[in-house]
Amino acid sequence: MSSLATQIPEIAEKIKDDEFMANVKEEVAATIERFSSRIQEVVQHLFTHPELAFEEYIAHDTICDFFEKLGFTVKRQAYGVQTAFEVLTGEGGRLVSINAEYDALPLVGHACGHHLIACAGMSAFLSLHFALKKANVKGRVQLLGTPAEESGGGKAALLKGGAYEGVDAALMTHPATQSMVDPNPAVTGLGAINFLATFRITVEFFGRPSHASQSPWEAINANDAAVAAQVNIGLLRQQIRPVDRIHGCMLEGPRAANVIGEYTKLTYMARSPTKKTVTALGKRLTACFQGAALATGCEVKITPETCYDDLVHTKALLERYTQIANAVPGQLVLPINDESGPGSTDFGNVSYAVPGIHAFFVIDAPAGTGPHQHGFAAAAGTQDSFERALTAGSFLALTAMDLLVDDVFFATVKDEWETNEKIVENKGASQESADLAIAGH
Ligand SMILES: [Zn+2]
Ligand SMILES: [Zn+2]
Repeated sequence: MSSLATQIPEIAEKIKDDEFMANVKEEVAATIERFSSRIQEVVQHLFTHPELAFEEYIAHDTICDFFEKLGFTVKRQAYGVQTAFEVLTGEGGRLVSINAEYDALPLVGHACGHHLIACAGMSAFLSLHFALKKANVKGRVQLLGTPAEESGGGKAALLKGGAYEGVDAALMTHPATQSMVDPNPAVTGLGAINFLATFRITVEFFGRPSHASQSPWEAINANDAAVAAQVNIGLLRQQIRPVDRIHGCMLEGPRAANVIGEYTKLTYMARSPTKKTVTALGKRLTACFQGAALATGCEVKITPETCYDDLVHTKALLERYTQIANAVPGQLVLPINDESGPGSTDFGNVSYAVPGIHAFFVIDAPAGTGPHQHGFAAAAGTQDSFERALTAGSFLALTAMDLLVDDVFFATVKDEWETNEKIVENKGASQESADLAIAGH
């Protein structure tokens, strides 16, 4: 340390910080290198055994076995979710949650690359475990295995089960195509995109069957109810904003022309930029089904499904994440792409519970190929993508370390998140969307 630094406390403090983070970076890099081939075995196993929402038994067991073999205590089937798990490390201080997804898609396998999310999460957690020990600082890290992102909402179930209680911030990173992130090929990642909030219902119409020719007047036509509902929705679409979406389909219906159908079942979703706006849109969508029931004389049962919230962004967190990533040669990570989207994620629900970051890293998928396509699955299985996921994991590790040790940074993040108008609006209204769907029974 220079003599000038010892004379000026702030400079001394800064140099101390720089030394501390340099040591942490070294430890993170060393850990990733040391465990890289063992992590790859796990990730490859996940990739070649794609499993659907809430059925990720192989992924669950493979990751849990990996950590148990290293001596960690693993909570299997965590928080009431069969294919979720939790590993903890560290002592005292704040608690940062690293989220690892691992579910796949029907027919296209790991075409969203969630095995790479698990890869980044595992490497971040292990790095933090050794870095915290070496630096001898207070702070805890949770690796949370979060199944069923593609459907079902594993994180919503985990929130309900208490998995995020006591968590101060949550982090994850997701693979992406170049075009999702930025057309400039020099850009290697993003801190965030805007996800849409979702509202989801299953609707059943109950009528009465009858001979379609001999006594049609005896029937209560459940097929007509489904048709009327879809006409209502079609008309409603004219009066919604361009950013809003309504989509769905019939799951079960009549099978004969000469029997008036007594039962139909439909699934529908609405999407909108925020939890507040999707709640309002969900009310209008629900009314389309209620109106159809009234018009046809059918009984209607409306069952609410798990809703995904939009993502609450925290600028201070995004800025720090990008600073960390951009310190690495060859990386150009932007804080946010406002125009990318519009998908949805159950991490949105987490971001309403604690400050969070859902970052993206580019993988080398062929131009014109996007997530949920065969080409993306193939690209997500390469050595190059695995290495990019490890790098993205190191960004999560260093961001988490800053959240644990930098009090001023954490206070800024927390304050910004708490005063975000979405969080303020949401207070006391967290169950509103579920309640209104139940009210539609
Ligand atoms: Zn996906
Ligand atoms: Zn995904």
